[in-house]
Amino acid sequence: MALNRFNINEIRKQFPVLDQHVYGKPLVYFDNAATTQKPLCVIERERDYYLHENCNIHRGVHYLSQMATEAYENARKTVAQFVNAKQPQEIVFTRGTTESLNLLATSLGQLLVNQGDKVVVSAMEHHSNMVPWQQMLMRSKGELLVIRMDKKGVLDLNHYEELLKQRPKIVSIAHISNTLGTVNPIKEMIAMAHKYDIPVIIDGAQSMAHQVIDVQDLDCDFYVFSGHKMYAPMGIGGLYGKMEWLEKMPPYQFGGEMVDTVSFEKTTFNKVPFKFEAGTPNVGAALGLETAVKFIQSFDRQEVEAYEDELLEYATEQLANIEGTRFIGQAPKRNGLISFVIDGIHPYDLGTIIDKMGVAVRTGHHCAEPVMTFFGIPGTVRASFAMYNTKEEINIFVKAVERAANMLK
Ligand code: PLP
Repeated sequence: MALNRFNINEIRKQFPVLDQHVYGKPLVYFDNAATTQKPLCVIERERDYYLHENCNIHRGVHYLSQMATEAYENARKTVAQFVNAKQPQEIVFTRGTTESLNLLATSLGQLLVNQGDKVVVSAMEHHSNMVPWQQMLMRSKGELLVIRMDKKGVLDLNHYEELLKQRPKIVSIAHISNTLGTVNPIKEMIAMAHKYDIPVIIDGAQSMAHQVIDVQDLDCDFYVFSGHKMYAPMGIGGLYGKMEWLEKMPPYQFGGEMVDTVSFEKTTFNKVPFKFEAGTPNVGAALGLETAVKFIQSFDRQEVEAYEDELLEYATEQLANIEGTRFIGQAPKRNGLISFVIDGIHPYDLGTIIDKMGVAVRTGHHCAEPVMTFFGIPGTVRASFAMYNTKEEINIFVKAVERAANMLK
């Protein structure tokens, strides 16, 4: 495939939503960690599906159903190839990261976690990678072990090693923190857990759009993600799992599609991945996800990553000039986002005022309350970037923050 030149004006044309005014000001969209905008090709793919192809899949003998089934299974192949899974069947479609993690806490939990057993997460997890484990462990009277981090937002690997020696049954950690931007050394952490034969789940919600993911090279047992954070529609995402695990795991939800034979006495289940996909899936969104993957692949990934790093560095430099700015998350390896507070100003007030200046950022605890507790703050202002953002937008954002801070002091 011929690669698109990284031409920011051309890229922005793909995202008409960016070209609008809010409160009479040009929109600056820096809430990409919450959800990215969607390019025209993705919107058109989903629209086309409903205009010409819509049908329930896997069960019809007629033309439309067969076409839709083939398209859905091709989308699975594209995602599998994107993360370098060994086979398409290792990709299970879900609603997104949250559903994938709930599936794993239930199904892998049922397979591996017995009364009193332990599961390891890190101190910087999103609630989605913490609460499902906590709830599952409450039922099994087990214990959640939490890898410590330092004030820069770097995980303590010595502490991790100590926790592994307690023989937890599962490790589940974020690739990139959605509050701190820390890129965790997951390859090393996976290898450390494997020395104790412990399977590792990686929460890739914040990484799929920004980094090249190779699940075979990482050797992770599971990798979970959300389509809407990587230019795809909402309501679709998935999990990669090594086939040997998926085959052993019990189903998560029950109903149509996931069964093989059913009688009132007994039910046998379909093969992987269908065993985990009960009910009618979001076919249109899966096709949108496939298009989003192809969109990402149409660029030189290194070039995009370098550009996004440049944006992050520039925003950090510019914000540092504002008096009282304190960055929350100063790990040497960060990606995609910047979290900060300004002394004496509530992040919510700052976010609300800069919104009126056309700048969309996220404020609050970012679904990671324990991280805020750790830093002793109510929340942060988070600016998160995508490939379509520019330095000019950063200039507008920094000026807006400066003005708002002056108004609030
Ligand atoms: N994990 C991380 C690191 C996230 O950033 C998010 C969303 O912000 C999630 C999990 C949950 O993703 P979703 O709401 O798409 O299920």
